[in-house]
Amino acid sequence: MTQTPSPHPIDTSELKPIHAKKGVPEGLWIRCGKCAAMLFRKAVENNLWVCTKCQHHFRVSGQQRVKQLVDKDSFEPFNTTMAPVDPLGFVDLKGYPERIAAAQKKTGQNDAVQTGMAYIKGRKVILACMDFTFLGGSMGSVVGEKITQAIEQAGENNLPMVIVCSSGGARMMESGFSLMQMAKVSAALARFDDQDGLFISVLTDPTTGGVTASFAMLGDVILAEPKALIGFAGPRVIEQTIRQELPEGFQRAEFLLECGFIDRLVHRKELRTEISRIIDYAGK
Ligand SMILES: [Zn+2]
Repeated sequence: MTQTPSPHPIDTSELKPIHAKKGVPEGLWIRCGKCAAMLFRKAVENNLWVCTKCQHHFRVSGQQRVKQLVDKDSFEPFNTTMAPVDPLGFVDLKGYPERIAAAQKKTGQNDAVQTGMAYIKGRKVILACMDFTFLGGSMGSVVGEKITQAIEQAGENNLPMVIVCSSGGARMMESGFSLMQMAKVSAALARFDDQDGLFISVLTDPTTGGVTASFAMLGDVILAEPKALIGFAGPRVIEQTIRQELPEGFQRAEFLLECGFIDRLVHRKELRTEISRIIDYAGK
């Protein structure tokens, strides 16, 4: 399928519903799912999809993330036609091919990651941006393969690798094929490290499951957006398993910073500056 602009720049499940008054065009105003403030959509968009009242960072699509991060029109995508197949004939409530088709229609993308070469403040990088709006950013074979090939490109061209993570983890419809991607991407990163490559991992809300358990946490430098949920199993699952209430802020980026799992919290509007600064420090 062809790549068309996503009609959903953000994960709309984060917005509270608004019942528009007569005469007010639909979608002009949005309601923050966090602080419930009524926000002028254009103002939030100009603020990189961060709430202008409470600074809540909305989950943006892969396409939107690329647009926010790179120098204007500098993104040259890789493997745009690589699309998922259904190796297991997986059916839950619906068949996997049906779910793929719906996600492709919704996002205008073939799968849950965009990879390519781009410039960030004039620094050439290889970039991978995961897309939570596509089947929860789950890591199927296409996601793993695209990220692996991107890392190999970074190694061959001696360029920094930047991965923006946003994922619920493995893709259950691909089962073992999905789990294998963890090892494959991690192995590619190990080879990249042998080549003295610089890998900057950016964790955004949410970064969980197999993605956290593999490449997300392998960055030379690990950045995270404020309040991002970062963990392996979700807090609800842990709570049900250990039958204890979890402390406030558990699995949030701020807590992980305190525990030394991540290096720095970065507001979305500072990401470009921070990434380019790290590239300069590393002499890449
Ligand atoms: Zn808000």
